[in-house]
Amino acid sequence: MIEHIDLSLCDGCGLCIDSCPTDVLRLMEAGKPWEVEPKTWKAVIVYPNECHSCRLCAIDCHVDAIRVTHALEIPPPFLVHR
Ligand code: SF4
Ligand code: SF4
Repeated sequence: MIEHIDLSLCDGCGLCIDSCPTDVLRLMEAGKPWEVEPKTWKAVIVYPNECHSCRLCAIDCHVDAIRVTHALEIPPPFLVHR
């Protein structure tokens, strides 16, 4: 699952939004509403539960700002004992 986007690295290029097949990410304006132009844009995680850990966003990010946990790194929610 996508874990984190380092906003100090993100330059708002939008590559990760275009590469995500499941609509997890959006570009949003950074900063306070009253700040003067030009605004900067940052990628944000809006639907984390839609992520299936394909890592396309992390691979396409040219500043290595995205951290995705591999599906095998996620512990199972419970163990079934028989
Ligand atoms: S690809 Fe990287 S730099 Fe570009 S918007 Fe996404 S997180 Fe930001
Ligand atoms: S890992 Fe794949 S599904 Fe998850 S946010 Fe990145 S591109 Fe989208």
